[in-house]
Amino acid sequence: MNAVKKFIKEQITAFLRSEGAEGLLSRVGFEGPYVVIYVKDPQVLLEKKDIVARLARHIRKRIIMRIDPEKRLDPEEAKKEIKEIVPDFVGFKGADFDPVTGEVIIEVERDLILKGNQEFNTEVIRRTGWVPRIARFPTIKSSTVEGIRRKYIEGSKQRRRSLERISEKIFRPILSTGDVRILALGGFREVGRSAILVRTKESCVLLDCGIKPGTRDPTEAYPRFDIPEFDIEEIDAVIISHAHIDHCGFVPFLYKYGYRGPVYCSEPTLHLMAMLQEDLIDVAAQAGVIPPYDRKDIEKELMYAVPLRYKRVTDITPDIKLDLQNAGHILGSCIVHLHIGDGLYNIIYTGDMKYGKTALLGPAYYRFPRAETLIIESTYGAPEDLMKRREETEAEFANLISHVIERGGKVLIPVPAVGRAQEIMFVLDRMLRAGKIPLVPVYIEGMIWEATGIYTSYFDHLAPSVRDDIEAENPFREDSEFFTPIRDPMRREEVIMEKKPCIVLATSGMLEGGPVLEYLKELAPKEENALIFVSYQIEGTLGRRILDGLRELEFREKEGIRRVQLKMQVFNVTGFSGHSDRIQLVNYVKRLKGAVQGSLKKVIVCHGEEKKAKSLARHLARVCEVEATAPHVLDMIRLY
Ligand code: ZN
Repeated sequence: MNAVKKFIKEQITAFLRSEGAEGLLSRVGFEGPYVVIYVKDPQVLLEKKDIVARLARHIRKRIIMRIDPEKRLDPEEAKKEIKEIVPDFVGFKGADFDPVTGEVIIEVERDLILKGNQEFNTEVIRRTGWVPRIARFPTIKSSTVEGIRRKYIEGSKQRRRSLERISEKIFRPILSTGDVRILALGGFREVGRSAILVRTKESCVLLDCGIKPGTRDPTEAYPRFDIPEFDIEEIDAVIISHAHIDHCGFVPFLYKYGYRGPVYCSEPTLHLMAMLQEDLIDVAAQAGVIPPYDRKDIEKELMYAVPLRYKRVTDITPDIKLDLQNAGHILGSCIVHLHIGDGLYNIIYTGDMKYGKTALLGPAYYRFPRAETLIIESTYGAPEDLMKRREETEAEFANLISHVIERGGKVLIPVPAVGRAQEIMFVLDRMLRAGKIPLVPVYIEGMIWEATGIYTSYFDHLAPSVRDDIEAENPFREDSEFFTPIRDPMRREEVIMEKKPCIVLATSGMLEGGPVLEYLKELAPKEENALIFVSYQIEGTLGRRILDGLRELEFREKEGIRRVQLKMQVFNVTGFSGHSDRIQLVNYVKRLKGAVQGSLKKVIVCHGEEKKAKSLARHLARVCEVEATAPHVLDMIRLY
């Protein structure tokens, strides 16, 4: 045990002694960023209320508590006890036990009532010796959530070993800090392959690790890991802002080439990310392209992943603390706050963010105590990028759809599986319910359905204001009266052939492969049909080329190239976006600047086409009176 760990252990023993609770502790361990307290006698927890929380505050570390195995009931017995403790109206659904960690995942219908409920937790621990974790029983089954849960229980020993190894690096003695700089590896003056290296004298952290759709050239498609300044051996941690592949699609590649450190992200991101990475492999295979990694690399990533909740400040290196906050973009999306040294320097990275209302998520968080540097996206950063109000957008959307349906056409909506898909499903459900659009079948492609299943496991991440509404009338249900999932190609064929109007939601959102192309091929030549874009189209993608006027489509098929004339109507509805428009971006910077009380020195603009990034930087410098730049990929910026 190194000096840092020894010191923490001594602090713990001294604290417990001063509290007269020596009997509590059996031993101390370290896993990833957590200090693990093994408890000998759970009764002490009852007598000394909140002692673990107070201990965590005292040592300023994140603590996990475990009860010694001999104090745990046999799982069958424990399950009976838990069933008794869970109130009826909460809806007990099952319990999964992990004998390695001593944790029990309790699945219930109404998770919010039990999450963070100290009384309930203590009662479970006291009566069973197992430490509870509450999970929401999903109203749409997700094989990803079930698969990862199984993997974590079956591979618990292996995962603990990985986390113990990670803890060696986190709790290492520090020499000195300072010399903060960032290196732009991808996603600057462009949208795609987001990757930023943050370096201090002591440590090295990678923010996002994405790919760029719409290009096959490796120096364009992937972050610039090929330069001498990048050394995979030096990386302490990878932090993923959210699950879109332009932010996380390249993470398994790091594991393929020997990275064995942690990936920090929110819990929903972990699941959505694994699902989308697997899809990336499948889509590549279908297109006859060799994917940059395979499934075993994703498995590795999962073993080293450390999901974090919002607002939990966590040590990730000896001189960097991490705090994740809601970004409002998609389920589990984060604004990343890096706190370097003790009050020395703060970096805020927005990832993709929405500083405005959407149907499902609250607006991006800005109340940070300090921020010397803000790294902000600029997807819609140009002066002309102004979105209509939400109500107007919905009215426009309803009109478009009604019009197409009334003339007997089909509506094809390409959507990324995560984010816009659920937002649009929610809106369609409410419109159909209120009779604002004619009642026609809405077909949801399999990947979107699976992602929606993950959404239904994490309602606690939705905006508090919609949770009740959704709880009362949940649009995301296996037995939805409006939505029909499409799970196989035969069924897809039938939908295309049906001589009736319908609405189809299919991936990929930028028409870069996936089932949406099967629909597009057949629906494109008919004028009565419509193609409605609701999400951002990256330069170079088929979606973007159609928006820019392309009407002669070519599809690669087994028999050769098939040419199709696009005659269906094309619309672009931007008001549903999960990104902020120009005004929202500027407002965000103003608000943040106010919150951090004059500490903001520098704004770095990323994740936007060259013109937009430059325009936003110029504008921010003027109206927010800060130094603002739009660096190029490969630029190095000294911060402190
Ligand atoms: Zn995104």
